[in-house]
Amino acid sequence: MNIYGETLEQLEKYFEDIGEKKFKAIQVYDWLYKKRVNSFDEMSNVKKDVILKLKEDFKIDKPTIIRKQSGKDVYKYLFELSDGNFVEAVLMVHDYGNSLCVSTQVGCNMGCAFCESGRLKKRRDLDASEMVSQILLVEEDLGLRISHVVLMGIGEPFDNYDNVMKFINIINSGKGIDIGARHITVSTCGIVPKIYEFADNKLQVNLAISLHAPNDELRSKLMKINKVYKLDDVMEAIKYYIDKTNRRVTFEYIMLKGINDSKECAIELANLLKGLNAYVNLIPYNETSHIDFKKTNNDRVMEFYDILKKNKINVTVRREFGSEVSAACGQLRASQEGK
Ligand code: SAH
Repeated sequence: MNIYGETLEQLEKYFEDIGEKKFKAIQVYDWLYKKRVNSFDEMSNVKKDVILKLKEDFKIDKPTIIRKQSGKDVYKYLFELSDGNFVEAVLMVHDYGNSLCVSTQVGCNMGCAFCESGRLKKRRDLDASEMVSQILLVEEDLGLRISHVVLMGIGEPFDNYDNVMKFINIINSGKGIDIGARHITVSTCGIVPKIYEFADNKLQVNLAISLHAPNDELRSKLMKINKVYKLDDVMEAIKYYIDKTNRRVTFEYIMLKGINDSKECAIELANLLKGLNAYVNLIPYNETSHIDFKKTNNDRVMEFYDILKKNKINVTVRREFGSEVSAACGQLRASQEGK
């Protein structure tokens, strides 16, 4: 088993099970996540026999960085996993900190029409250690501290729910990487039962919904998942989430030229979200060579923005990152695989 996939509670239980004191788990976390050693032998305050046992039961292993591209305030990584699969992560430098966009699956089965990741079907889920490693590797490579994590890379987090929740537990631990829950954002295309489950967890983690259309007809054309979970069902789940957690929800809305960027769409969107503790993030579309959609021009984005504002919807336009480094999730992986 990979040690980076163990929550602190699991490690504590492990030590109790082998007849050791559970605080040893905190020591091991300290070595792994504060001191960042890469071998058990370096854990100098851990007894030799315990080290031997740890070596028997765990490995300390991270993927390999095989490509890296950088642009203004953005670094994009391609990792090779131990089984030869590839995933990506993107580090964005903001004025408020460094945010890492993490992948959760190898490929994606959601099949959104505009998305590069979904062109390659899911091969498998990432385990928690493979998600944790993305943070460790980028921090190590750039010599900086990641303050924010967004689960918006390749994959659908709620299609890999248990591993994702474990990952969040591990990086949120104050004894480990210690990324505050409010600095972690999970993005979903709208897997309704998991939105309820997530709400019941009552974490302080942020939830973002990839909406991209204000009605079923258009949304079903863009996102296959809408044929399974209709907009009404998604909105009902969101209301439940807001009731339970008292937290504001983000709606992501990619601006696609001539598709979902009309005034009518803006008004419909405003009506859909009216009165909800939510805000809309308008996202400039990252064009990719394999897919025909074009990005909406800036004037039109601002018109759309103004309509939402006038209707008292909180709205921001996402800063554009990395079009020069193929930052649309999935692009690097696809090119690595020659697809
Ligand atoms: N599956 C999850 C998380 C990964 S996608 C989800 O759907 O939310 C992260 C976000 O990037 C989603 O809002 C997705 O719709 C958006 N996205 C996908 N392709 C994009 C592109 N080419 N340009 C801009 N955003 C894109």
